[in-house]
Formats: sequence, C-alpha cells, structure tokens
Amino acid sequence: MSKGGIRVTEYDDPNVRIYHGQMFRRVAEREHVREDGTLTWLTTWCGKCLECGASFECKSPTLSPTFSPNRRCSRHRKPGVKVGREADV
Ligand SMILES: [Zn+2]
Repeated sequence: MSKGGIRVTEYDDPNVRIYHGQMFRRVAEREHVREDGTLTWLTTWCGKCLECGASFECKSPTLSPTFSPNRRCSRHRKPGVKVGREADV
C-alpha cells in the first residue's frame, strides 16, 4: 500500500487528501500570478464544512509539500462576517 513514502490513507487516491480526518477532493489546478509577478500553481480542493457539512472550495499551492486547507465553509470560516452568496459550483 505504500507509495514513495507518502502516508497512505484509506483513500489511496491522488485526487483525495485527508486532513485531520477531513476529506478533500481535488477539483482543479490552475496557474496563479503572485503579487510579485511570479507564476505558481494552485490546486482547488473541495471539502465539507466541519460545522454544517456544506461543500466548499479552498485552494492550496500545488507544489507545496504542506497542506493546510480551510476546514469550514465561507459562512463558518469567519464568524460574524456576512456571506454574499453560496458557492455556485
Ligand atoms: Zn459551514
């Protein structure tokens, strides 16, 4: 089950990551221009909010070895902040 030293979870799927027991599914990768003008890649992940279970998307640097996604939807990420619209994905 081991693949190149990467910790294998029960979801042995490159499009799925488990973060502290929370599942995130890769939905897109796209180029992103940083503020300093350099190019990078961002992966968009789809997860379910810990508070309400709603699907939401978050992004992380594709090439970064670390993965620290948001764990809550936009409504619960910042308590007290109004949410303009639901994610229409
Ligand atoms: Zn939520």
